[in-house]
Amino acid sequence: MSFFVSKIVAFNETFNPATIEVVVGTMYSGKSKELIERGYRAEKFGHTSVHYFKPEIDTRDRDIKSRDGQIAKATSINHGKDLMKYLDRCNGQELVIIDEAQFFDKSIIYAVQILKARGYNVVIGGLDKDFRGEPFGYMPHLMALSDTPIKTKYSVCSVDGCVENGSHPLRLRNGEADSALSPTVLIEGSSDEIEYRPVCKKHHEVPDFVDYITKKMNNGE
Ligand SMILES: [Zn+2]
Repeated sequence: MSFFVSKIVAFNETFNPATIEVVVGTMYSGKSKELIERGYRAEKFGHTSVHYFKPEIDTRDRDIKSRDGQIAKATSINHGKDLMKYLDRCNGQELVIIDEAQFFDKSIIYAVQILKARGYNVVIGGLDKDFRGEPFGYMPHLMALSDTPIKTKYSVCSVDGCVENGSHPLRLRNGEADSALSPTVLIEGSSDEIEYRPVCKKHHEVPDFVDYITKKMNNGE
C-alpha cells in the first residue's frame, strides 16, 4: 500500500498540470482587481477553493482591495515559506492568489514551486519595478517561474496632459522625487510625506540614481 501511495505522489509531482501565473503592474493599473476577478471566476464557475495571501508588511489594508472597491479576504503572512502552514494537501481544485509579492523574502520562490508540485494553481501579483525602476524583490524569479506569458498591467502616466503608459512608480517625498539612496521599501501612508504615482519612462525621476547604482556595482551586490 505504501509503495502504491508513493508512486501516486511521484506521478503528481512529475506530471502535475498545476500552473504558476504572474501579473505585474504599477499602482492604479488594476492588478489587484485582476487577481480578485480571477479568484471570483475560479470560485463561481470553476468550483475551486481560493486562498488569498498578502505580506504582513503591507499595512495599507489587511485584505486585497481593488481601487473600485472590490475586496477579497486575505491572510497576511510574514515570509513566503509561511504559505506552507496554510496549504498542505491540495484536493486538485484549489487556487492560491498572492498579491504584492515583491515584498516577500527569497522563500517565496521555493514556496510557490512546492505548491505547484502539490497541485495548487498559483497566481502571483506584484510590482516588477521599485521606485528606482530596478527589479523589485524576487519578482524577476517569480516571473521566470511563470508557466504562462507574463501579464503586464499599466495605468496612465499621472503627469497632466501625458497619455503614455504609467509603467514606472515615482516616489515623492514631501512632493519632490525621492533620492535613489533612500530605502527601497517605504509604505505609502506609513509617513504622510511618502506618496507613489505611476508615471511613464520620460517622467520618471530618480535623483542620485547613478551614484546609487555605481555604489551597488562596486560593492558587488
Ligand atoms: Zn508621462
